[in-house]
Amino acid sequence: MDEELRILREAVSRFLEKEFVPHMADWEKQGRIDRDAWRKAGEAGLLCASIPAEHGGGGGNFKHEAVLLEEISRAGISGWGNSVHSGIVAHYIHAYGSEEQKRRWLPKMARGELVAAIAMTEPGTGSDLQAVATTAIADGDDYLINGQKTFLSNGMNAELICVVAKTDPSEAASGVSLIMVETEGVEGGGGFSRGRNLEKLGQKAADTAEVFFADVRVPQANLLGEVEGKGFAQLMQQLPQERLIIAVGAVATIEKILQLTSDYVKERKAFGKRILDFQNTQFRLAERYTEARIARVFVDDCVQQLVSGKLDVATAAMAKWWTTQKQCEIVDECLQFFGGYGYMMEYPIARMYADSRIQKIYGGSNEIMKMLIAREI
Ligand SMILES: Cc1cc2nc3c(=O)[nH]c(=O)nc-3n(C[C@H](O)[C@H](O)[C@H](O)COP(=O)(O)OP(=O)(O)OC[C@H]3O[C@@H](n4cnc5c(N)ncnc54)[C@H](O)[C@@H]3O)c2cc1C
Repeated sequence: MDEELRILREAVSRFLEKEFVPHMADWEKQGRIDRDAWRKAGEAGLLCASIPAEHGGGGGNFKHEAVLLEEISRAGISGWGNSVHSGIVAHYIHAYGSEEQKRRWLPKMARGELVAAIAMTEPGTGSDLQAVATTAIADGDDYLINGQKTFLSNGMNAELICVVAKTDPSEAASGVSLIMVETEGVEGGGGFSRGRNLEKLGQKAADTAEVFFADVRVPQANLLGEVEGKGFAQLMQQLPQERLIIAVGAVATIEKILQLTSDYVKERKAFGKRILDFQNTQFRLAERYTEARIARVFVDDCVQQLVSGKLDVATAAMAKWWTTQKQCEIVDECLQFFGGYGYMMEYPIARMYADSRIQKIYGGSNEIMKMLIAREI
C-alpha cells in the first residue's frame, strides 16, 4: 500500500456505497447489474484501472485492481463482472491487440460504453480448453464463427466478447485463436444470439449467460495477435492474473466473514454468556484468523510478484485453490456461529455462503490448479 492506493481505496469505497450498495437487492432480483452502473463506474475511474492512460485506462497496475477487488468484496457486492471486463478482457486486448484494436476498444471499455466478456467455456468442454468446438473459419476478409458458449460472466450485458475458437479445427492447442466479436450489428440477423440469463446458487446479480454463433461474420482484423493459432498460449500467459483476481477476492471475503462473525459472537448470548465466551468459539476463530493472515501474506506477495512480472503459473494456481478452499471452509464454519440466523438470506453471511461456492470452480477448477502445480514437482 501507498498513499495513492489509500486514496483510491477511499474513493472506491465511497462510490460503491453511494452507487452500488443501495441497488444490490434490486439487481439481485433482476439478475444483472444495471447497464447504466457500468457508465457511472467508468466516470468514477473504476474500469480498466490497470490499463495505460494513453489507451483510456487509469494508468495503474495490478495493485490498483486489487484495491478495487477488495473494496467490492468489503462492500458486499457480488456478481459485478468488472474483474472479467477490466482485469481479464482489457488485458488480452492490451497484451495482444494491435494499436488500432487498442484504440478502438479500450477507451470505450474504460468509459463503460462497451461491456466485455470472455467466452471460453462450452456446453461440451470447460476444463479441457483445447477441446473447444467453436470454429472461426476464414472466408474472404472475414471469419465465419459457429458454435455455442456458456457460463459467460457479463453474458447479457456484453457488447464485446473475446471468443476462444478454433481457426484450425484439425489441431488441438495450436488450432486455437482469440477473436473479438462486437455484438452490435451481428445480434439477431447477423447470427449472434443470447440464451437464458442462467439462474445460479449465488452471485445473483451476475448476468451469466449462454451465447450462440450461427455463421457470425467478423472481420479477420478482429483476431488478437498477428497470426492465428496463438490463442492457447495467450490464455496460458494471462490466466495467472485471472487466478490471482479470484484469490484477492477470496482473501477480502474471508476478512469480511471474520469481521461479521466476530461482531455477532460478541453480541449474541446463550446460557448467560456471549457466544465468544465459549472456548469452542475462541479456538475455532483463532484458527480461522490464523488462516486469514496466512492467506493475506501469501496473496499480497503474489500481487507484488505479478506487478514485477514474476508470478509463475504454479504459484498463481496455489493462491487460487488454497484461498478459495479456505474461503468455503471459513464461511461454512462461521455461518454455524450464527445458528438459525445464519441460514436466513437477510443475514449477509447466508449470501456469502452461497456466493462463495463458485470460487472453487471457475477460473480453472481447483482440481485443474492442483494439476498445474503437480506439473512443476
Ligand atoms: C458463475 C460462473 C461464471 C463463469 N464465468 C465464465 C466466463 O466468464 N467465461 C468462461 O469462459 N467460463 C466461465 N465459467 C465457466 C467455468 O470456468 C467452468 O465452469 C470451469 O472451468 C469448469 O468447467 P466445466 O464446468 O465444464 O466442468 P468440467 O470441465 O466438466 O469438470 C467437471 C469436474 O471434473 C473435474 N475435472 C475435469 N478435468 C479433470 C482432470 N483432468 N482431473 C481431475 N478432475 C478433473 C473438474 O475439476 C470439475 O470438478 C463460469 C462458470 C460459472 C459457474
